[in-house]
Amino acid sequence: MTLHSATLAIDEEVRARRQAGQDVLHLGFGEAGLPIPTGLSQTLTDAHQRNGYGPVAGSPQARTAAAGWFTRRGLPTEPDQILLAPGSKPLLFALLAALDGDVVLPRPSWVSYAAQATVLGRRTIWVPTPREAGGIPDPEHLATALRQGVERGARPRALILTIPDNPTGTVAPAEQVRAVCALAETHGLTVISDEIYAELCHRGTAPSPAHYLPERTVVSTGLSKSLALGGWRIGYLRTPPGVWGRRLHQELIGVASEIWSSLAAPMQSVAAHALDEPPEIRAHLTASRHLHARIATALHARLTTAGAHCRPPQAGFYLYPDFAPQREALLAQDIHTSAELATHLLHHHGIAALPGSAFGDPDTTLTLRLATSLLYGTTPQDRRSALAADEPERLPWIAAALDRFSTELDMLTRGRAGRAA
Ligand code: PLP
Repeated sequence: MTLHSATLAIDEEVRARRQAGQDVLHLGFGEAGLPIPTGLSQTLTDAHQRNGYGPVAGSPQARTAAAGWFTRRGLPTEPDQILLAPGSKPLLFALLAALDGDVVLPRPSWVSYAAQATVLGRRTIWVPTPREAGGIPDPEHLATALRQGVERGARPRALILTIPDNPTGTVAPAEQVRAVCALAETHGLTVISDEIYAELCHRGTAPSPAHYLPERTVVSTGLSKSLALGGWRIGYLRTPPGVWGRRLHQELIGVASEIWSSLAAPMQSVAAHALDEPPEIRAHLTASRHLHARIATALHARLTTAGAHCRPPQAGFYLYPDFAPQREALLAQDIHTSAELATHLLHHHGIAALPGSAFGDPDTTLTLRLATSLLYGTTPQDRRSALAADEPERLPWIAAALDRFSTELDMLTRGRAGRAA
C-alpha cells in the first residue's frame, strides 16, 4: 500500500522543485486548473455565516438540487437517495466500508480505489480493460478473473467502474457497460459507478451503469473536476431506488456520521447553486469541455508523433501513453519500468508524470498518466483566457509548453539529455 496518494505526492514534489528554482512541466496532477464562476464565489461569500453542522446526508436544498441534477440525466431520483460529503473520495471509502467484501477493479484504474481497499483489509481483483477504452473491465475476462479470485479465497462484492475514465481519458461504449452490468448481476456484485468526469465528455454523454443495473448501482460524483472545485471538497452520491438502496443509504449515513459529520455548511449552498445549473454554470461547462478537448488532443498528437501508443482522448484531461514501442531506446538509458520512466522524465527532462504502476499496471509496462489541465496557465488571468479561447493551444504559454513537451520527448526517445539534466 502507498502511504501517500501518488497524485498528491507528485504535486508536492513538483512544488518543492519549483521552489528550488527548477522549471517543471507539471503533467502529474489531476487538478482541473480553471477559474471559479462568479456566481459560485458570490454564493460562497453569502453563505460564509452558516456555521452550524446541519444534517449528515446534506441540507434539503443541496439534496433536492442533486436529485434534480440526476433526474435531468435520465435517472429519476428523490432527495433521500442523495448523500453529500467533503469530496467523493470519502464517499467511495464509505461505500467500500459498507459493502463488506473484496473489490473488483479494471486495470489500470484510479490510484485510490486499490489503496482504499487495502486500508479496509480487502483484497483487489484486477481485470484487464480492452485496448479501445478504459474504466470498464473487458467482459471477456471478468468472469474468469472472478472465478480465479474466488478459488484463491476472495469474496468479491463491489465492482468499481470509472466512466469516463481516469487514467485513460476514454469513455467505454454502451454495449460493454451493458455486458459488464449483466455479469455483475449474475455474480451478485454491487456496481460503484464513479462518474466524476461525466460532465466533461468531449462529445455526447457517457452511458451510466445505473441504466443497466438500476437496483444495484451506486453513482458517485462531485464538483472537483467538472467545476474545478477540488479544494472546496464537494462530492455527492446517489444510492439506487428500492429496499436494498434505502438500507445502503442508512448504512452510509452511519459511516458518514462517525467520520465527517456533514459537508461544510457553506459548501452545501455552493452545491445547491451549482447543481441547479443556472446558465452561467452551463456556459462554464461548455467552455471547459472545449478547452480540455483541444489541449488533450494537441498533446495526444505530439505523443503519437514521438512514437508512443495512446488512446485518443474522449473526456476530461488525461492521456495514458504507452512507450512500449520505444522500449529499446529506453532500456539503453537504463529505464525498465514505468516508475523509472517517470523519475527519468522528472530528473532529466523536467516533466512530471505518474507511472502506470500507480494505476495497477505491472511494473515493467512503460505507461504514464499525463494530466493536461495544468498547462492552461498559472495565473487566474491566463486560465480565464484559456477558457475563452477558440484555439487555446495557440496561446503563447500553452504553445510554448506543448513545444517543450515535443522537444523533450524527442530527446528522450533519441537517448539525449534533456534541458533539466
Ligand atoms: N474519482 C476519480 C476517478 C478521480 O480522478 C478523483 C480525483 O482525482 C476522485 C474520484 C476524487 O475526487 P474528489 O475527492 O475531489 O471528489
